[in-house]
Amino acid sequence: MKIKFCGGVQSVTGSCHLITIGNRKLLLDCGQFQGSKIAEKLNYEHFGFSPSEIDFLVLSHAHIDHCGRIPLLVKYGFRGKILCTDATFDLVQIMLRDSGYIHEKEAEWQNRKNIRAGKPMVAPLYTVKDAEDSFKYFEPMVYGETKQLCDEIKIRFKDAGHILGSAITEIFAREDNRNTKIVFSGDLGMKDRPILRDPETIAEADIIIMETTYGNRVHPENLKSVDALIDIILKTTARGGNVVIPAFAVGRTQELLYDLNRFYEESSPDYREALSKIKVYVDSPMAVTATEIFRRNSQVFDEETKEYIMKGDHPLDFPNLVFSKTSEESLAINFNNEPKVILSASGMCEAGRIKHHLKHNIWNAKNAIVFVGYQAEGTLGKRIVDGEKHITLFGEQIYVNAPVYNLEGMSGHADRDSLLDWLSGFKKKPNQLFLVHGEAQSKLDFADLVKAKLGYDAIPVNEVSEYDIIPGSGSAEASEAAEKHVDNSDAQASREDIIEMREKMYKLHEDFETLLYNASLAVDGKRISKEHAEEINNILLNLEKGVVNLGSDVLLEKRND
Ligand SMILES: [Zn+2]
Repeated sequence: MKIKFCGGVQSVTGSCHLITIGNRKLLLDCGQFQGSKIAEKLNYEHFGFSPSEIDFLVLSHAHIDHCGRIPLLVKYGFRGKILCTDATFDLVQIMLRDSGYIHEKEAEWQNRKNIRAGKPMVAPLYTVKDAEDSFKYFEPMVYGETKQLCDEIKIRFKDAGHILGSAITEIFAREDNRNTKIVFSGDLGMKDRPILRDPETIAEADIIIMETTYGNRVHPENLKSVDALIDIILKTTARGGNVVIPAFAVGRTQELLYDLNRFYEESSPDYREALSKIKVYVDSPMAVTATEIFRRNSQVFDEETKEYIMKGDHPLDFPNLVFSKTSEESLAINFNNEPKVILSASGMCEAGRIKHHLKHNIWNAKNAIVFVGYQAEGTLGKRIVDGEKHITLFGEQIYVNAPVYNLEGMSGHADRDSLLDWLSGFKKKPNQLFLVHGEAQSKLDFADLVKAKLGYDAIPVNEVSEYDIIPGSGSAEASEAAEKHVDNSDAQASREDIIEMREKMYKLHEDFETLLYNASLAVDGKRISKEHAEEINNILLNLEKGVVNLGSDVLLEKRND
C-alpha cells in the first residue's frame, strides 16, 4: 500500500493525494492550484498519475482548491466513481460550472491580447461543458453511511464542520490479508461555528492525513469577531462609508448572514434600530444559488440553527438584506451613495465582482475593508492584509487608503489548538501521521507541537512525494472469521454503536412529531407559509425515499437469508 502526495503540499491549494491499495487506485480530492501565477500554471501540468487508472475519487468538500480539477480529470480519461456527501454534490455543481465559466472568460481575455500581440491562441483550462460532463460520475452519500467500493475498500463520511457537506473520510482498506484504517481529515472547521455541526472526533486510525492550514496560529473567539464586525459596520456607516467584505460565495457568505441575522434578533432595540437602516448587499450570483442550497440542506445543520427554522425564522434572511444577481444590479451598488455593507466573492480577491468593489472603495479613507477568511500567499487579499499601500486592479494603480481589518476568528478553518484537540481524539498512536495543506512553517510548527504534547512523530509533507503505508495490525482473515461467528465479541457491534443508533431513533421520533405537528397546522388552518409547506413536503419526500430504500434493503436481505 502506498500514498503519493500530488498536490496541496507546498501550500494550501491543489489538494490531491493518491492511495494505491492492491491494484486499486483511490484519489483523495482533485483540487485546483490558486494564488500566484506560478501556482496557477501548475493546473496545466501533468497530474502525476494517469487519470484513466483511477478507480475512485473521494471528495472531501466543495471548495475549488479541493474539487477544481475534477473536470480536467474526466477530460483526460477518468471513468471511475466520485464519492462525496449529498450536500457537497449540490454545491460542487455550482462551483464547477462557475469555475468553467471563469476559465472560458480568462481564455477569451487572454486571446484578445494575444491577437493584438500576434501570439498563438490559448484554450481554457476547462469549460462549463467539461464541468457538466463530470457530474455523471458522482455518487453522493449521506454522513455515517458505510459504502463498500470494492473488495479491498470501504468508506464512511463523518462531518468535518468546515463548510456545508464537508467530510472527514474513513477508509477501511484491505491488502495482503491485512486491514488498515486510513483517516483523511479534509479541511476541519472550528467548534461552535454558525450553522454547521462541530467536526466529529474519530477514535481509531492506523494512518492519518491531516490539514494544517492554521498549524501555528490561534484564532480569537468567533463571538468577539462578530462583535468587532458589528462595531466596524456601525462606525464606518456612521461616517458615511461602505464596509466591503471579500467572502467565499459558498460557506463564509452564509455564515456571515447567519451571524448578522442572529445579531439583529438578539441585540438591544437601539442597535437593531441603527442596523435596520443599513442595507447588506450580497453581490455574487453564486452566493445567491449557494444560499438556496443551504436552505435545502437543513438536515445537516447544527441544533441551534434547526431550532431557528422550527421557530419560523429563517436564519439566512433579514429585512434589509439585498441579493444582486445581474451585473446591472451589481454596478448599481457602486452608484448609490448610501452607506452600506457589501459581501462579495472571491474571498481572496483574485477574481469576481469583489475586484470592482475594491476599486470603488479601497482608495477612500471613509470606507472599510474587512477580511473574514484565510488569505493564501501570493493572493491580492494577502497583499492587502499584509499592508501593501499600492495595488493594481484592472491595470490601474490604486492607493489603499481605507482601513483594513482581518477578523481571523471568523475563519472556517480549525486553528492550532482545535487541530490538536481533534488529533487527541484518536485513542492510540497512528502508524503514520502525514501533515498536508499548510504553508511549510505551519506544518513544521504543528509537528513540533504534536511531538511535545502527544509524543509522536508527524511527517510534514512539503513536496510531491510517495510513501509506503505501514499497514494496520488487524488480520483480515481473523476479522472475516469473526464476522461469520457473531457470538465472537470482536464481530459484534460495539456498545457505542448501539447507543448511537438508539439515540438516532429517538431523535428521528422527535423530528417526526414536530413535522407532524407543523404539517397538521398546515392542513388545518392557514397558519404557515406556502414556503414552509413546500419545505415540509420536501422533507417528507426525502424521508419517504430513505424509509423506502431501507425497507427494500431489509426485504432483500430477508429473501437472501
Ligand atoms: Zn476548504
